[in-house]
Amino acid sequence: MSTAPVTGATPPNARAAARTSGPRPAAKASEWLLTARHAERLFDGRRSAWGAFHIRRNGEHRTACGQPTMMWHTFWELRMDTLLARVCRDCAAAARATAPR
Ligand SMILES: [Zn+2]
Repeated sequence: MSTAPVTGATPPNARAAARTSGPRPAAKASEWLLTARHAERLFDGRRSAWGAFHIRRNGEHRTACGQPTMMWHTFWELRMDTLLARVCRDCAAAARATAPR
């Protein structure tokens, strides 16, 4: 009788638990994050949005312009203020309206 090899895969229970909304990782809740439906990898290895960037609040699942961001890419490594020209108009307006002066 053979036994299945141990793959180290996450047990289904743990995976389900990770999906539930519990305490979120420490980060500023008010922080805007760059997000996009599709991502591309640039020639130098960096990631970028394929098309327009949108923004969402850290911990939220909807862009500032109202689109659900499930399965979207989040660009943790990019700063919004340097890419505002590529952010969708409604999102950029929301960012400007809330930007600390
Ligand atoms: Zn947007």
